[in-house]
Amino acid sequence: MSTRGVLSLDQEVGVSDAVLLDPLTEEAFIANLHQRFKRDQIYTYIGTVVISVNPYKKLALYTTNIIEAYRRCSMFELPPHIYAVADNAYSSMLDRNTDQCVIITGESGAGKTEASKIVMQYVAEVSHKRKELVSIKQQLLQSIPVLEAFGNAKTQRNDNSSRFGKYMDIEFDLLGQPCGGVITNYLLEKSRVVSQSQGERNFHIFYQILSGADIHFLKTLKLQRNLENYSILSHYRCLQTETVDDRTSWTLTKKAMEVVGFLQDEILATFQIVSSVLKFGNLQFIPRANMDGTEGCSLMNEYELYDICELLKADFRAIQAALTLRTLEARHDVVVTDLSASEATYARDALCKALYSRLFTWLVNRINENIRAKRIGKRKSLGVLDIYGFEVFEHNSFEQFIINYCNEKLQQIFIELTLKQEQEEYIREGIQWVHVDYFNNAVICDLIEKNNHGILSLLDEECLRPGPVSDETFLFKLTKACQDNPYFESRGCKNFLSDNTLSYQSFRLRHYAGAVTYSVTGFLEKNNDLLYRDLSQAMYNCEHPLLKTLFPEGNPRRTTLKRPTTTGIQFKISIGALMKNLEAKQPNYIRCIKPNELKQPMIFEMALVNHQVQYLGLLENVRVKRAGYAFRQDYNIFLQRYKMCSLQTWPNWSGLPVEGITHLLRDLPIHPSEYTFGRTKIFIKNPRVLFELEEFRRDR
Ligand code: ATP
Ligand code: MG
Repeated sequence: MSTRGVLSLDQEVGVSDAVLLDPLTEEAFIANLHQRFKRDQIYTYIGTVVISVNPYKKLALYTTNIIEAYRRCSMFELPPHIYAVADNAYSSMLDRNTDQCVIITGESGAGKTEASKIVMQYVAEVSHKRKELVSIKQQLLQSIPVLEAFGNAKTQRNDNSSRFGKYMDIEFDLLGQPCGGVITNYLLEKSRVVSQSQGERNFHIFYQILSGADIHFLKTLKLQRNLENYSILSHYRCLQTETVDDRTSWTLTKKAMEVVGFLQDEILATFQIVSSVLKFGNLQFIPRANMDGTEGCSLMNEYELYDICELLKADFRAIQAALTLRTLEARHDVVVTDLSASEATYARDALCKALYSRLFTWLVNRINENIRAKRIGKRKSLGVLDIYGFEVFEHNSFEQFIINYCNEKLQQIFIELTLKQEQEEYIREGIQWVHVDYFNNAVICDLIEKNNHGILSLLDEECLRPGPVSDETFLFKLTKACQDNPYFESRGCKNFLSDNTLSYQSFRLRHYAGAVTYSVTGFLEKNNDLLYRDLSQAMYNCEHPLLKTLFPEGNPRRTTLKRPTTTGIQFKISIGALMKNLEAKQPNYIRCIKPNELKQPMIFEMALVNHQVQYLGLLENVRVKRAGYAFRQDYNIFLQRYKMCSLQTWPNWSGLPVEGITHLLRDLPIHPSEYTFGRTKIFIKNPRVLFELEEFRRDR
């Protein structure tokens, strides 16, 4: 129990639960976070929600001893910690037989991914250490570095930024032993494969393999160690990152792939594709004037394509043709046209993005096959959601629009569930409560996703419309449809078109977390996400073991002319399903805060924190807690825990638990206005009472 001693509540600076702040003001709330942050107390509660301020340094808070201390503890017995939230979720799942989820939110770099790993570590540690379980737990844990290697990258805001969303459901048998898991991935930011902004990098895996793989493996993959040889990596010459050790990470990624269950030939196949993406990225096309006045092009560096063909077991001529020509089938005619050099470059980039993002989805599916629960039977699940955080760059495009839409939805579910759950429980237990107003961002969600009128619908409409469509015509329509919406504003250069209409290049949305200006350039293309049929067929026809799976639409026998669902709508559907899944579970929240933009320890930028506290609605969250009752507990559990505080209930109480508790509380110096009795639970207004109860308990 020594760890419990070290983790004494006596060491706590300020208040460990913001509900205790008196008076409750924004200044006091932030000063409390700051005071605690300075002493490395990065976690603070609002009732059962934990706020986590990124320390940007390693803290000694995550040992197995500390995990032990938090096991089966009430949240108020020890200093705030993610372990307490994880334990609460895990214990409630077992005791109350309810599915749980841990929703982690915060902007890019705030610490969501780290928090999700801490939750996973806790869950793996507290469940049994039986031998047959070790492997499934290892697989669940090791899936993390695999997906991070392929799905994370350095951005301006975070050296290890998640460029995909991840929801992992861990499944348990009725004894609480993990028996499997399912990972759902959300839209990878694939444009990164071919271009990155200044100071950013491509996905980690490219640097890992080139820096870390042994020379023999590189040779097999026809790669050279020099990063500068690959144009998709060396665009801005941001090749290394101080905080990321690519060589060590390579060893970890490869080991993790083996633990997760990838066979050696699958690992080889994976890296053959990774290598071919690097090489496709190097292909260059020289313009060529045709006799008929049209422009064609020819491939400049054929040697790269020879390598690719060996890697993908492809036919050189077929791939070369697919990259430089386009076949159009019109009724009974087949017309082949030349691609110009810029069209071929565009097609090449589309292929790189498709190869990489489809490989990523294949990896997730393959991991799922391995970690899926094998035994049939009743199961409970605990989901962990770690998704890309809200982001604003100088230049924001379709990707940021999608990421920020996703964050709007998560804020929405936070609002819905915090209020809904609270309200429902009061009604169920027959308790009066005072309503607190929130800024409800449902209006912004509607603006984006509403059927027929939302931005996503308008974008789809424009993508499907025959005739001359462009990003500008889309924005023009959007402007017309949304100009009266206070959360929308059309922005950017205004150009008069020939027909006297206006053209704009960007629009601005007032998100719950701040206003963001999106450039519409590329919106239509990214939403359409079409790959020339020549390329998908060429990929399908390769002998490489993965390509038939990755490009099923390239099968010449598949004649369906159905248009594939657009990226935006696909995302909307998958986010809708995620919301449904989360709503069916009991939520647990970790709200992450980024203390500075410099990624440095000990710096707490007031204005930056203030902004996050405001948009996360943390103060309102405290107010809701205070207006109602901060804590509640089943009568039986409460009585068992505190029965020693009164001679009337000690050692045993034989009557109704609620009567026992009435006697017990009357014997203590606790004012009756501090608590009330529900149908099955005792409700306590102020968490201070719980701390006092703990003290009475210790003193007995
Ligand atoms: P994104 O939305 O970009 O994926 P994120 O919220 O997932 O961002 P993380 O990658 O979890 O952010 O955190 C960014 C960095 O902050 C980490 O790489 C790590 O250096 C540091 N960090 C975050 N949480 C902790 C922690 N609890 N202890 C120590 N360092 C941390
Ligand atoms: Mg992350």
